[in-house]
Amino acid sequence: MQGMMMMRPLSIISILAYAAEAHPGAGIVSVRTEGDIHRETYAEAYGRTAQLAQGLAGLGVQPGDRVATLAWNGYRHFELYYAVSGMGAVCHTINPRLSAEQMLYIIGHAGDTVLFTDLTFVPILNALRDQLPAGLRLVVMTDRAHMPEGDFLCYEDLLDGQPESYDWPDLPEETAAGLCYTSGTTGHPKGALYSHRSTVLHAMSLAITLPKSLHEGARILPVVPMFHVNSWGLPYAAPLVGASLVMPGAKLDGESLFTLMDAEKVSASWGVPTVWLGLNAEIAKQGRPPEGLRQVVIGGSAAPRSMIEGFEKAGIDVCHAWGMTEMSPVGTHGQLSASMPGLSFKEKMDLKQKQGRRVYGVDLKIVDEDGNRLPHDGKAAGELYVRGNAIISGYFNNAEASAQAIDAEGWFGTGDVASIDPDGFLSIQDRAKDLIKSGGEWISSIDLENIAMAHPAVANCAVIAVPHPKWDERPLLVVVCAGDTRPELAEIHEMMLEHMAKWQLPDDMVFVDELPLTATGKVSKLTLRWQFADHSLP
Ligand code: ADP
Repeated sequence: MQGMMMMRPLSIISILAYAAEAHPGAGIVSVRTEGDIHRETYAEAYGRTAQLAQGLAGLGVQPGDRVATLAWNGYRHFELYYAVSGMGAVCHTINPRLSAEQMLYIIGHAGDTVLFTDLTFVPILNALRDQLPAGLRLVVMTDRAHMPEGDFLCYEDLLDGQPESYDWPDLPEETAAGLCYTSGTTGHPKGALYSHRSTVLHAMSLAITLPKSLHEGARILPVVPMFHVNSWGLPYAAPLVGASLVMPGAKLDGESLFTLMDAEKVSASWGVPTVWLGLNAEIAKQGRPPEGLRQVVIGGSAAPRSMIEGFEKAGIDVCHAWGMTEMSPVGTHGQLSASMPGLSFKEKMDLKQKQGRRVYGVDLKIVDEDGNRLPHDGKAAGELYVRGNAIISGYFNNAEASAQAIDAEGWFGTGDVASIDPDGFLSIQDRAKDLIKSGGEWISSIDLENIAMAHPAVANCAVIAVPHPKWDERPLLVVVCAGDTRPELAEIHEMMLEHMAKWQLPDDMVFVDELPLTATGKVSKLTLRWQFADHSLP
């Protein structure tokens, strides 16, 4: 028997329409590439989104067309998210840190018809001009006064004089709304094609899971870029609950973030660990955290324990989250429940170091090499598979990668190796390709890095595998020093021996000025592996 309830399709534009009505005072503060600070309420953003949709229609954008963005976090990017998807087209966010070759590949693969760019990226586009698809329209996200020379359209011209309402079409909720490519460290980038349904359900899941960040009156600074998995869903979840967004634009160094957080009374901020290294250095310099900062959400790669402890000691709650581009992205979160009272600081940190428990709408399983399920006993480790409403069912226009991504039971293989404890806390041991395979046994690079990071002379570090004639691979510790004093490997071994077996310790340590980063701001272990492929171990 079927239920007898209305079937209203979930739609992204309904979030902004709702926020404009229910949370009229909340909105978006943006550090603009033009140099000033801009403010608009969600009600104003909704009106401008309607104007933008008219402008897009005037450019000939049709339902299903892909409209690309090459932009920082800011209000115009936010308006594009809603206008493009609201009219039934697909917002394709491009990561400006990709190589020119990768950028051209994804623009071609996505079949973008219009590309919106911030002023910052105009030189990149000018350099690529001859290689861009013929007919691709380029719009600069600025006003007439700041327009660059050349064959570009002006964002504010598209909106000028347009009505502040739009007849948003009733779209089936499975309609594609957003497209984001993985950074493609091996092979070509692959596209995750989000739908209205997946995006709204993901936003609702965040809203019920992360109330310390997402509540009415909150002021959230997404350091995670809007070109990286939709800023982890914040541009949707924040208006839904009535939280304001404080958009940092291009300035993501510790000092700029600290100053902006202070000035705008930011209550929560989300980003990858590398960003927090910069903010922590500024907190140390100032001798205090930004006023009002209550929570940081750290994800994208493992948050070192020393970083989690540092924030917590400064009175800032840390939520360690795990996810993937293919998962919209949030899969698990480290929010501790009220039903866990009486934990000591150490016990809390032990839990927070893990990647947390699943959000509503995500199922987790771990399997052995033959695909057999492993128990959630906190000990067995295997490849992690996921299933849920906001997880890809395949890659955009890529049958080969799609066939490899999904197992016979319909689960998506994450490529991560993990264990899950009886309370549901996930521990990511490593990406399968970053695990160190020594004499047939596995060593987790994340575990070793976590301990080395606690040494006062270590500012940042990575552990990678180097080839070994007897053991296949052995761990090498790559360190960026905090000051002039170099740490001794023996001291770090001593710290590691408290938690690890002797055979798991790094054979050697090398020093670098900085660690190479991927386009999404994570340490690029692939680059380090190439760099130290010939390193001879003692
Ligand atoms: P890319 O780095 O290619 O852009 P994603 O941003 O989707 O791709 O990265 C997803 C991967 O990042 C996960 O599969 C996992 O390996 C890693 N990751 C994300 N969050 C965490 C975390 N909290 N701890 C450890 N690894 C993480």
